[in-house]
Amino acid sequence: MDPSTDPFSPENVVVIASGPLTGTGVPLGSRYEVITKSPLNGTLTSANSGGVFGWKMKKAGFDAIVITGKSETPVYLLLTDGDAEIMDATPYWGMKTGEATDAIIRDLGDAGARISCIGPADEKLSRIACVINEKTRAAGRGGIGAVRGSKNLKAIAATGTQIIAEADEERFNSVKEDFRKKITENGIDQALHHYGTAVLVNIINENYILPTKNFQSAHFTEADKISGEEIAKTILKKPKGCYACIVQCGRLTEVDGVTSEGPEYESEWAFGADCGVSDVKNITKANYLCNDLGLDTISTGATIACLMEMAEKG
Ligand code: SF4
Repeated sequence: MDPSTDPFSPENVVVIASGPLTGTGVPLGSRYEVITKSPLNGTLTSANSGGVFGWKMKKAGFDAIVITGKSETPVYLLLTDGDAEIMDATPYWGMKTGEATDAIIRDLGDAGARISCIGPADEKLSRIACVINEKTRAAGRGGIGAVRGSKNLKAIAATGTQIIAEADEERFNSVKEDFRKKITENGIDQALHHYGTAVLVNIINENYILPTKNFQSAHFTEADKISGEEIAKTILKKPKGCYACIVQCGRLTEVDGVTSEGPEYESEWAFGADCGVSDVKNITKANYLCNDLGLDTISTGATIACLMEMAEKG
């Protein structure tokens, strides 16, 4: 690609790729990447997400997808057992990620389909927009979702039954067992399982490196109120994991009668310490809203924190 390519031009390329271990059952082997030229920083950017979409993309017969050009009208890409079909997404344009995901699955009549989707923020080309799969897992950074919005690509639906086979099953299983042992013997898996990635809040705060009040400080006196331990005591329904993961660091939470996922450590510092906010429920609500709209929680929280400091300083 020409390095001078405008990120929002049809010439920009978006690559969506799984890794060699994705979907093989190796612990933590669930991830996929979205790679493109970022409209936020103007350079090559990748964002990474878990959940089950990466596994499902492989089950649909695809290790990687390379997208170029631009559709005149909203479309989505349907991947089924080695075939790729471009489908009309006009009915879903304007929908939040959760609504669009439910509607596409309903219209396909395939409850097993998994959807990587963009929201209204991406459609409006917000440079801090992200890609969301399974309604709550984000490939968050660099405005990569806005590039999908610029191509009118609302979603990718993956469905299929292909077998992800190993070349040498015996050797593969022995390496897999080795990985599993290393993770469980380390102990960090238990901390992540019980308290999620927000277990880092107190640890990082105690080391005076927690982004606080738009990075004006590195220590938040109310950090314990936004910590993983506090989430576990107040809003956690249960830990949740990506495909075949034994750690299960995801958080299924409930706030004011709404059940969804989050917050992760990054959303806690961005909407919490960095904005001087110590109410874990409000942080979680902001996280849910970002997932629905297709906004990266880190960039959104950090932008609000910056605005707060600018307002304070006139
Ligand atoms: S549940 Fe957590 S540790 Fe496991 S793959 Fe997902 S993000 Fe990684």
